[in-house]
Amino acid sequence: MRTKILANLVSIIFISYTAVAVSAPPHWSYEEEPNWGAIEDATQSIPLRYPYAECGIGKHQSPVDLADEKIVKSRPLNKLAAQYGTDTPSFFNTGHAIQVNTSQNFTGGLKVGKELLPLVQLHFHEPSEHVVEGKKFPAELHFVHINKDGRIAVLAVTINIGKENAMFQTVLDNMPYESGKENSTSGVKFKLAKLLPSGMNAANLKYLTLAGSLTTPPCSEGVQWYILTKSITISAAQLEQMKTFYSNNARSAQDLNERSILSNQ
Ligand SMILES: [Zn+2]
Repeated sequence: MRTKILANLVSIIFISYTAVAVSAPPHWSYEEEPNWGAIEDATQSIPLRYPYAECGIGKHQSPVDLADEKIVKSRPLNKLAAQYGTDTPSFFNTGHAIQVNTSQNFTGGLKVGKELLPLVQLHFHEPSEHVVEGKKFPAELHFVHINKDGRIAVLAVTINIGKENAMFQTVLDNMPYESGKENSTSGVKFKLAKLLPSGMNAANLKYLTLAGSLTTPPCSEGVQWYILTKSITISAAQLEQMKTFYSNNARSAQDLNERSILSNQ
């Protein structure tokens, strides 16, 4: 009996410790997308009570519709090079998407002009988040780069159905099914550039770019987006396998407001 009381006490202490000291951000789901901004964190007072407010009131939100008529081709833009190489990453089921995390000693990244932004992870959405004239692609890949100063740049690649992609199969085969689990012991040598469109020069990518946000809560702005102008393919069977992990994990297109979409072509 005494042991049981003690055990309960320990669990109470542990629970209150996690609630107060760790204070995990509130849960969200894609079903709640129209109301992400209103999700409350009852443990916090204003202004932290609505940690996802930017999802609702932000004016530079992502994704957007990349319709041709909105694209501006008049300005010279930075040269963009994907210096991804090979890594031994871990495979992480985030609870919202399937994700590949680069290893601690990985040195690759996205070179924007002269600056190299380290690649920290890549993940997949089904269907796509960016659309063209309202039309979604079957899926979308996001390479996420974070600089030491906290700046985020995302390289997005739309995905069509076609030829099977061997690197994507490696992602599917090593991904844990359980939400929150990370497989860091696969030892798989992962050639990241194999997830870029074939026939596009990785040292001089063709892209559209605009200022946007994270597409999941907290929807933080200040994210620079680079969307490749060519898609990659996966097979229909691979798309079906991907959907056994997550389906409909894609935010809808947001208003462009005063932003321009620039093209380097
Ligand atoms: Zn994403």
